[in-house]
Amino acid sequence: MSSPPIHPRYSLVIPLFNEEAALPQLFAAIDSLLKRLDGAAEVILVDDGSRDRSAELALAKSQADARYRYLGLSRNFGHQIAITAGMDRACGDAVIVMDADLQDPPEIVLKMIAKWREGFDIVYARRKARQGESRFKRASAALFYRLIARLSAVDMPRDVGDFRLVDRAALRAFGQMRERDRFVRGMFAWMGFRQACVDFERPRRSAGETKYPLRKMVALAFNGIVGFSDAPLRLALWAGASVSMLAMLYGLYVIALWLTGDPGLVPGWSSIVVIVAFLSGANMMMTGLMGLYVGRIYNEVKARPLYLVRSEQGFDRRTEVDPVFPPFARLQESFALQSRSQKQA
Ligand code: UDP
Ligand code: MG
Repeated sequence: MSSPPIHPRYSLVIPLFNEEAALPQLFAAIDSLLKRLDGAAEVILVDDGSRDRSAELALAKSQADARYRYLGLSRNFGHQIAITAGMDRACGDAVIVMDADLQDPPEIVLKMIAKWREGFDIVYARRKARQGESRFKRASAALFYRLIARLSAVDMPRDVGDFRLVDRAALRAFGQMRERDRFVRGMFAWMGFRQACVDFERPRRSAGETKYPLRKMVALAFNGIVGFSDAPLRLALWAGASVSMLAMLYGLYVIALWLTGDPGLVPGWSSIVVIVAFLSGANMMMTGLMGLYVGRIYNEVKARPLYLVRSEQGFDRRTEVDPVFPPFARLQESFALQSRSQKQA
């Protein structure tokens, strides 16, 4: 694993959605943060289809200050896609994602960088306390983070949003994950690598109001649970199996009634109940079973890489044996061609 360079380059990725009220304070805070960094930095402002003057202000800043870049999305794609777009364009050795409303305090970035220098690949910030957020938002967030930590097979850190520093190598791995319904914090948790966290107190919004209304919050929570847990699917299978067991038991009971010749029985009733109970039981089981396959198809369709490599050593020395996985063979071939043509040139 290569250690961070002495004078690293940083990329800050900041998504904007109708943030014109927050921008002047943001630019001032970022400008003073940049002075305190131990390397050069670029600031990527991603306008996520704002309908106010955010785009105009961000564009003007990027024209006036060579460290700022402006990336304007064609419409509002949502926070998770906006930060992905910014990270796709980032070319720093370490990339930091933060909100535009200064709820992710810039001085925490310095603590993240210190962790990165200790050798961590992903440094996330954990909210110890939240100011200026409604009781409902705090309670629902607490519930959500606990629920997803329980349900998901991935080790999800609690109270962690998208304020995060990512090393170049981990960022490259993240770039391979192109799933559409994105829950970025979960994707980073899934990735592994060496992760560390720094705690912070989340201040209130600097200006403007939240761009995460209940609708978007529910959609995000839903994406997180469906994308990182197959608990809902397993629920269908378990419910199906137990209901069908009960139905079948009831069917057996009705058969027993019929055999003992209960005088109160209406003729034909037992056969109808038995048939309905067995058929609905079988149906439920089959639906649950289909759910299992759908879950696997969903996993395949997400097309996440099978594994991620954190570091490697010595592979460039071997050229004589073809690797098992053909795309690597093709890669090696093209490398060989390239180096041959470079020598000829
Ligand atoms: N944001 C975005 N697209 C959206 C919603 C939000 O780019 O559709 C940005 C927003 O401008 C801010 C960040 O995502 O920089 C976090 O949003 P916000 O502060 O409103 O969320 P909260 O802190 O209230 O959860
Ligand atoms: Mg905020």
